[in-house]
Amino acid sequence: MSEALAKKRKIQKYLGNVEVKIEHCKGCGFCVEFCPTGALELSKSFNKKGYHPPMLVDQNYCNGCDLCGLYCPDFAIFGFRVGPNPNFKKDEKAK
Ligand code: SF4
Ligand code: SF4
Repeated sequence: MSEALAKKRKIQKYLGNVEVKIEHCKGCGFCVEFCPTGALELSKSFNKKGYHPPMLVDQNYCNGCDLCGLYCPDFAIFGFRVGPNPNFKKDEKAK
């Protein structure tokens, strides 16, 4: 993991989640690159086409903004908001 990615990771005030259509993914990594909170990484497993689909590193880092879905050229991922995050502490800055 790059240092830049690690710096983005903070527990989010609102909790999100992602749905990944694993077999539609071509492993380009755009979603990982553009996620503003560094919540994604490419998994070590392969889909049937031989690509590594993304996965959430930790759900606490995902706020459901759906930028990953916006940037995915293959509509293989989308993000959605779940609700307030019980793990968020007020002294942490929300993104
Ligand atoms: S929904 Fe937003 S925060 Fe969650 S993984 Fe996608 S881009 Fe990142
Ligand atoms: S942007 Fe889409 S195709 Fe590219 S790695 Fe992410 S989910 Fe897969």
